Amino acid sequence: MKTLLDYIKEAEEKKIAIGHFNISDSEGFRAVVEAAKSLNVPVIIGVSEGERDFIGLQEIVALVQTARENSLPVFINADHTYSVEKAKVAIDAGVDSVIIDGANKSFEENVTMAKEVTEYAKGKNILVEAELGFIGQSSKVLDRIPEGVTETNPEDAKSFIEQTGIDLFAPAVGNVHGMVKSGEPKLNIELIKRIMEVAGIPLVLHGASGNSADEIREAIDAGISIIHINTELRIAYKEGIEEGLRSGEIAPYKFLALGVEEMKKVVIEKLSLFNKLNKVIS
Ligand SMILES: [Zn+2]
Repeated sequence: MKTLLDYIKEAEEKKIAIGHFNISDSEGFRAVVEAAKSLNVPVIIGVSEGERDFIGLQEIVALVQTARENSLPVFINADHTYSVEKAKVAIDAGVDSVIIDGANKSFEENVTMAKEVTEYAKGKNILVEAELGFIGQSSKVLDRIPEGVTETNPEDAKSFIEQTGIDLFAPAVGNVHGMVKSGEPKLNIELIKRIMEVAGIPLVLHGASGNSADEIREAIDAGISIIHINTELRIAYKEGIEEGLRSGEIAPYKFLALGVEEMKKVVIEKLSLFNKLNKVIS
């Protein structure tokens, strides 16, 4: 079976992107896997520190491995990991990739953390991602753009990637975590192109909930290979479950099923967009 890196390289060549969707329970996992299966595309399951504490790191790794044994190209990423120790725990648990997040630290501290994780992951067939530039930290609906948001300088990106030896790079290019009520800031497509020219490794776009389909397509054409969606999934899941609860149903597999269905719709729409399966989506 092809590795995550094989699929990422394939996506780069085809000018498409792999979808990365965050989940925190087995229902969310099902929604993402069923959506990807229905479209026959690879997919990455993301679990942040909070999400993996809830579902259990070993449990979600086992779920992904089981899906993969059924020949589904499903991969697991330990999303935003704020300490080297926790990144090592995730690597030992058998994830396919890990994000060491030192984005709100100094450049030097960020380099030190990322370097330590790449050295630990060496030879283990696990991809290490890091980010430079700050895009906020919460997957919520926000009143305003989070404080301290910056954009990545391409020269800094180049030096960061060379010094750390990371496999994947997450730039700050106008993207923000969460969704901004007053309107999502625009992606800086020119900056993506400039970073792509110097990076030499695949680029990952975080916080893509709320960005328009046109912007996403431009970002992919500019060089983005993986796209993260979380907030839109959370909203869909919550609304589906609320509907399920309103029906008076008490069987969890019935009222939760509506959450799964709503989440699945969002994943299918995003995967179609990222994989350029349906040009009419807007
Ligand atoms: Zn993120």
